[in-house]
Amino acid sequence: MAVEKTDFIRQRIQKDVDQGTLEGGVITRFPPEPNGHLHIGHAKSICLNFGVAEEFGGKTFLRFDDTNPLKESEEYVSAIQADIEWLGFQWSDVTFASDHFEEIYQYAVDLISEGKAYVCSLSPEEIRVTRGTLKEPGVDSPFRARSVAENIDLFKRMRDGEFKEGEHVVRLKIDMSSPNINLRDPVIYRIIHASHHRTGDDWCIYPMYDFTHCICDALESISHSLCTLEFEDHRPLYDWVLDKISVNYHPPQIEFSRLGLEYTVMSKRLLNRLVDEKFVDGWNDPRMPTVSGLRRRGVPARAIRDFCDRIGVTKQENTVEMNLLEFCIRADLEKTAPRGMCVLNPLKVVLTNLPENEIERLSADWHPQNPELGSREILFGRNLYIEKEDFLEDPPAKFKRLTPGGMVRLRYGFIIRCDEAIYDETGGLTHLNCTYFPESRSGQDKSGLKARGVIHWVDANSCELVSVRQYGRLFDVPMPKSADFVDHIDKNSLVESHGLLEKAVMEKDIERIQFERIGYFYRDPDLPRTYNKTVSLREGF
Ligand code: ATP
Ligand code: MG
Repeated sequence: MAVEKTDFIRQRIQKDVDQGTLEGGVITRFPPEPNGHLHIGHAKSICLNFGVAEEFGGKTFLRFDDTNPLKESEEYVSAIQADIEWLGFQWSDVTFASDHFEEIYQYAVDLISEGKAYVCSLSPEEIRVTRGTLKEPGVDSPFRARSVAENIDLFKRMRDGEFKEGEHVVRLKIDMSSPNINLRDPVIYRIIHASHHRTGDDWCIYPMYDFTHCICDALESISHSLCTLEFEDHRPLYDWVLDKISVNYHPPQIEFSRLGLEYTVMSKRLLNRLVDEKFVDGWNDPRMPTVSGLRRRGVPARAIRDFCDRIGVTKQENTVEMNLLEFCIRADLEKTAPRGMCVLNPLKVVLTNLPENEIERLSADWHPQNPELGSREILFGRNLYIEKEDFLEDPPAKFKRLTPGGMVRLRYGFIIRCDEAIYDETGGLTHLNCTYFPESRSGQDKSGLKARGVIHWVDANSCELVSVRQYGRLFDVPMPKSADFVDHIDKNSLVESHGLLEKAVMEKDIERIQFERIGYFYRDPDLPRTYNKTVSLREGF
């Protein structure tokens, strides 16, 4: 069922639309820094930005906020684009903050010329110390009084590469005693002698986020600049810059809360460490909360969009339970994933009354409620495998599976009775000798027999050996802290085993499949014959 979307942001946009104040219509942007891969928190922002633009007939720019050449790369640019498209969204244009470097530079020159910005030659450490604290005001930089002419000259020479990193910065001249620390003469330009992935060596000065972002929003006529709550305290700066420079359009910045998710970390910096220090097998490890990790785990994009709709958009900071994400995944796969049978822990069953050269041919729908997914043939021969756990020599009273002398139905097939359990000389169970009842064929049962339960199985001659990867939570605490999160990594969060999978599943090349009674699985796109567990069949871990 679709979730109705009426949050404070949509209400605000509706109001602006109703009042006719939006000349260019609704224009949003999603502004990632290309310094890592997208995670499900970004998905929230993507669903919001692209979602509202779609709903209001507007458009969304994908803007790369590429102002730090030390951390950014083209590789991330393309990975981010692939993730957004996979999530099901299309931008109207791709833009880069670096496309506007010249204009941004000119705005800084303008501010300097008007005495609203200056070149400061304090060291980064001195700047930090003189900024003051929440309780104490900052101290004016001794360079605050530099003449416009000297500032202009220095800024030009900064651009020309005459200085080392950290020697000078450009700061706005606002108020060193403002209660909002962001307004205490924030740095807007710094020297970085590094090649940029797009502008190469054209620049050795780079604008800071706070100066860049608002200018890009204005230049792109963004109607609503939606960002996360940590930027609330930056809004006065956003507004200060746009009020002072000569842009004729001033977008509103509106903040919403970040998504936090239990049992994972969500900052690119921490995710980077997981990858670099090899706690996981890359950005797309199925245990990662990245879009690519979720994809490789088999999570459908639709389920992520549904999840984002359900968590909604508010100003309350909260951490969402993993159960909600899993609920959304399960709800989607329940409707869409074909069913198949896979035995993870095989116990051989020999049907002593079915001769070696005879087989029964069964038919089964791929999905119980979705006949359009078609059906397949399942062979049923003398040798089969069932799960070890589905047989107990000494069962408790309520045991609904196979026992000595007891009967179960093999799903889609026949009722069998266990006549004898065969052990080897060391006492290990080797196989079960069973009788099958030809009259009890599923759907046409004329046997009058009563089975205790239904279990899954595979036919020994028409199954394939596959690798099965099951994943637990990456962390053993719901809210790992950034200080010691590596100590809480669950080293057993990946369990690899084998499985015997119904051949038809492999032949049909099914991507997402429910292994009956076990869970939802996804055929790994890179590893041959490997299935990743997406989610269990029921809540509970
Ligand atoms: P991270 O801390 O993971 O590096 P970031 O905010 O630095 O995230 P950006 O690439 O700058 O990452 O983010 C792009 C957009 O995604 C921003 O508008 C940001 O507010 C939003 N965003 C990032 N993380 C979340 C989150 N957890 N929930 C909602 N939106 C988010
Ligand atoms: Mg960022």
